[in-house]
Amino acid sequence: MDLAFSATDLAFRDQVRAFIAERLPGDIRAKVAGGVGLAKDDFVRWQRILHAKGWIAPHWPVEQGGPGWSATQRYIFDEELALGHAPYAIPFGLKMVGPVIYTFGTAAQKRHFLPRILASEDWWCQGYSEPGSGSDLASLQMKTERRGDHYRLNGTKTWTTYAHWADWMFCLVRTSGAGKQQEGISFLLLDMRTPGIEVKPILTIDGQHHVNMVYFTDVRVPVENRIGEENKGWTYAKFLLGFERTDIADVGPSKQRLARLKAIARAEMVAGRPLLADDDFAAKLADIEIQLLALETTSLRHLAAEAAGKPIGPEASLLKIRGSEIRQRLTELAVEAVGYYALPMPEGLDRRNEPPIGPEHAAPAMPDYLFSRAASIYGGSNEIQKNIIAKMVLGL
Ligand SMILES: Cc1cc2nc3c(=O)[nH]c(=O)nc-3n(C[C@H](O)[C@H](O)[C@H](O)COP(=O)(O)OP(=O)(O)OC[C@H]3O[C@@H](n4cnc5c(N)ncnc54)[C@H](O)[C@@H]3O)c2cc1C
Repeated sequence: MDLAFSATDLAFRDQVRAFIAERLPGDIRAKVAGGVGLAKDDFVRWQRILHAKGWIAPHWPVEQGGPGWSATQRYIFDEELALGHAPYAIPFGLKMVGPVIYTFGTAAQKRHFLPRILASEDWWCQGYSEPGSGSDLASLQMKTERRGDHYRLNGTKTWTTYAHWADWMFCLVRTSGAGKQQEGISFLLLDMRTPGIEVKPILTIDGQHHVNMVYFTDVRVPVENRIGEENKGWTYAKFLLGFERTDIADVGPSKQRLARLKAIARAEMVAGRPLLADDDFAAKLADIEIQLLALETTSLRHLAAEAAGKPIGPEASLLKIRGSEIRQRLTELAVEAVGYYALPMPEGLDRRNEPPIGPEHAAPAMPDYLFSRAASIYGGSNEIQKNIIAKMVLGL
């Protein structure tokens, strides 16, 4: 197994690096470098710049608009996005429903949706989880009746990321109660402007609005918006999961966090010396950097296997667990580094018109720490990943 990059790969890396340096808008770069949350417009602006270059969909086949890169080139691209403080493209359209549409969609669905996903004209969200159906997703109950040329939906989806920004949702619904749970599920595409849909914010512990409840009352969805066959939705959902897993280790974002943490440790002074010169803190920093390097090497091993025609299987669960644990540890260290300036409300409860107290780099530390707790829950909780490893890798 050769993990070294070839001369062609290195030339590609230089090309990507130069492009990001030249074309990434300065305000977006500053937000990513500072760990500040991005607005929808920030994502869309950057995604459109990548689209104009033909680089928006690294995983898509060339005939669908992909750039034709190797697995190694895709890895290098992600790495350069991280190093250049560029945002990651939001996955719901590009990495999730896009591949489902070009693989299983009708000619009309492909014609309509794919160019709009590539150009970031439609923003997608994922309607899988329901109250009571998360880890045990196949138990989902969204009531769906067929009425001639349309379905009628009643029920609730929950934890729907960016539903408040979305134009469209890809959704798993129950079209049959017969047979095994998995056999009565269908995969629908639905327009978020359809009457009967209500999106209600869920505020997460970081005080932000990432996720939502989505309520459905007699929502009409044309049958032509179904992907593939009725009651075969579980097959398409599983296919989508494979794409969700491609960057599951989150090495790039963790590298961005590590770079920010080092910058903080250089700036924070303790007893007249930078925090970075404190032996105890430096040892913790070195420890997490080594863990991240080990995760990256493991990811590269899987990449080499993938390039040799062996797609990643249940081992992806290892990457998910380690990736989320490392992310969480990095955010803990950022909180430790800024000390009490990381308090969620350093200004007190009622200083609405006062400037924030403490260094600018302290402000994102606590929200990032708090929201990162969710990384071991979404995309399949770490307990579920451990079950998968026990069964599929260890054979227990
Ligand atoms: C920030 C965030 C964003 C999300 N975005 C989306 C989205 O966009 N679209 C979407 O559809 N969903 C989304 N989700 C939902 C996410 O997929 C679910 O939260 C997740 O699958 C867990 O399901 P649950 O919350 O119902 O917890 P449950 O399944 O009820 O689990 C509760 C606890 O029990 C454990 N547990 C459950 N079953 C087992 C078992 N068999 N063995 C051992 N332990 C078990 C779990 O690990 C967990 O700790 C998001 C969640 C979060 C937190």
